[in-house]
Amino acid sequence: MKQLIIVIAFIAGSLFSFAQSIDVIINSKEALRIENTLASNDMKGRKTGTPGNTKAALFIAEEFKKAGLQPADSKNGYLQKFAMVEAKVRSSNIVLGGSKLETEKLIAITPKRMLQVNEKSGYETGKIAAGDNLGAKAMSFVQSGKNYIVWVDNSFAKNFKRLNYFKSKLFANTPDVLFVLADAAPETYLLEVVQEVEEIELMNVVGVLPGKSKKEEYVIFSGHYDHLGVTDKPENGDSIYNGANDDAAGITAVIMLANYFKQLHNNERTIVFAAFTAEEIGGFGSQYFSKQYNPDKVAAMFNIEMIGTESKWGKNSAYITGYEKTDMGAILEKNLKGSAFSFHPDPYTAEQLFYRSDNATLARLGVPAHTISTSKMDSEPNYHKLSDEVSTLDIENMTEVIKAIAISSTSIIKGTDTPSRVNTADLK
Ligand SMILES: [Zn+2]
Repeated sequence: MKQLIIVIAFIAGSLFSFAQSIDVIINSKEALRIENTLASNDMKGRKTGTPGNTKAALFIAEEFKKAGLQPADSKNGYLQKFAMVEAKVRSSNIVLGGSKLETEKLIAITPKRMLQVNEKSGYETGKIAAGDNLGAKAMSFVQSGKNYIVWVDNSFAKNFKRLNYFKSKLFANTPDVLFVLADAAPETYLLEVVQEVEEIELMNVVGVLPGKSKKEEYVIFSGHYDHLGVTDKPENGDSIYNGANDDAAGITAVIMLANYFKQLHNNERTIVFAAFTAEEIGGFGSQYFSKQYNPDKVAAMFNIEMIGTESKWGKNSAYITGYEKTDMGAILEKNLKGSAFSFHPDPYTAEQLFYRSDNATLARLGVPAHTISTSKMDSEPNYHKLSDEVSTLDIENMTEVIKAIAISSTSIIKGTDTPSRVNTADLK
């Protein structure tokens, strides 16, 4: 009898402490504290490359430290630093088979100050033929990770300069891709470019909670901390894009989940908590972060974007982008059975969020990497507006979304569920 009572007391006690612990760590007071800091005027809209952005990064690093996460980088601590360059062409030269061509026929995607390439340079060669999808084909060369010379069919003469898009910002260690408007590769050629190059240092913030047994398998929780900065066209005396929903809300979730999982300490898989920079200017932070991992070792990624307002289904609900691409959504729903919360497939598929958000780099490599959001993409009045302020958020509901993410991910971080992979063959 005595023994039984002890067992009952133990079970009741542990149930109570579990139920209590999630509310102790993930509660609206804490959500508001983090939101008020990240979205404060002090952070000046957290624009990539500005002091306000750095200030936000240092705050998040401090929160990761307080939570007891390990720094991801032995040298830079929680700050995952990387460099990008902005390059402006000063002069270029293009000689094909002995004849000089107009310099507009060469678009060199390179971070180098000076580049000189000829047929003996050992670059791979590729072709964009008449009828190809110019942008998609060009993208595949840019993302190949190899030095390329790409001969672009003359039928693209009118749209050729669009390829300058790839020049806007480059990773400092990016390979060279030279697009040449010419139908065929001549036997000999010379391509030269001289550029003015400005290097920009950027940083993600990354903390780690090592797994107990499956240390080499990763589960990622992420959001982006950068936003749009300050405008020179104030409205009603306000010039700061506070970005309370976009995406201070996601970072608030990441910080609270870090604290929760650290306390819970039942993760067999290693959990990585990441706050990305440069989402608003092209997703460079998540691209850099994603390249640091072997995709085969990443069991799941929960990217969290704009969870501060009610979804189109009302309270206690959110959607998952690319829902049908893996069975991760079904696992999350299974773990939420009996609760008032529900996940739905992304209803805004025309927006291509699965391909546009910070989950995309890993998803394209097969990782079950999804974005969770409540944002009504067809009617979110404060989206990318000066009015995206903490006062417009439903902090109580947002706290419930964060709790739901915590509970729904339990079997994945414990290693008892492994979501199916994205079939990269049928991606766009
Ligand atoms: Zn945004």
